[in-house]
Amino acid sequence: MTASEKTYLGVPVRKPRAAFFSLTSCEGCQLQLLNNEATLLDFLSLLTIVNFREAVSERSENYEIAFVEGSISRADEIPRLKSIRAQAQTLVAMGSCACFGGVNQLKNRFSDLDWVKKQVYGDHPIETQDVLPLSAIVKVDLNIYGCPIKKEEVEKVITNLVLGKSIDYPQYPVCMECKANQNVCLFDLGEPCLGPITRAGCDSWCPSNRLGCWGCRGPAETANVRQLKQIMREHGFSDEQMLDRLECFGGFSKFINELKNQ
Ligand code: SF4
Ligand code: SF4
Ligand code: SF4
Repeated sequence: MTASEKTYLGVPVRKPRAAFFSLTSCEGCQLQLLNNEATLLDFLSLLTIVNFREAVSERSENYEIAFVEGSISRADEIPRLKSIRAQAQTLVAMGSCACFGGVNQLKNRFSDLDWVKKQVYGDHPIETQDVLPLSAIVKVDLNIYGCPIKKEEVEKVITNLVLGKSIDYPQYPVCMECKANQNVCLFDLGEPCLGPITRAGCDSWCPSNRLGCWGCRGPAETANVRQLKQIMREHGFSDEQMLDRLECFGGFSKFINELKNQ
């Protein structure tokens, strides 16, 4: 049986035409998709890939699903994103840059953009503007969180998309996965961690490797950010240390002003 003849519960699985695009990013999320050779062929067989610069040389503007990595940081990216949106039936924001602005949005902290350009590019400035997530410009149908995205999660999302099944994300925070993995809490080892308020789904990737969570997947549905502030203070961490983490990927931006004024 060829991939195009695959069935699920007797229903033929149609291979949607999919394209992968990159805006301002490190392209690490696209690379993640190609990383797991054990499942790569099965994963690719679910889609007809018509545009994926890191994987195939074919280029086509005829696609149904667009996976867009990266954030908006230049004016020319806005019409490009709009044109992708106009073509795609489903637009997926892939990774923290696309969902929240990601590490790119750190430069939004500086009010003088010309000064930032000078520091980064010296006498060879390039055009740049405040960083925006995709949803600030176009309608996003689906977010895949993480910096980088987790391959296993993307495969599940894509499988469900192709099979017409609903896509659910964990509502609970990283702490739940961390406890299930029987890790010693990093706060008890003297390290700060955003696990109590960050959306799970990464299988507590960082705490399982003795690194505090930096919140790359954004807030859990039940995030109690005020409580985090109390936990941080009780463990001797300053508000500045907490805000540094919360501002890193952009997912917690709606809480920042409230926390600063609290
Ligand atoms: S989310 Fe992280 S890994 Fe993905 S493109 Fe942005 S910086 Fe790179
Ligand atoms: S290490 Fe972080 S994620 Fe794990 S239990 Fe402690 S606060 Fe939660
Ligand atoms: S532990 Fe936190 S920072 Fe690390 S991958 Fe998970 S959500 Fe991202």
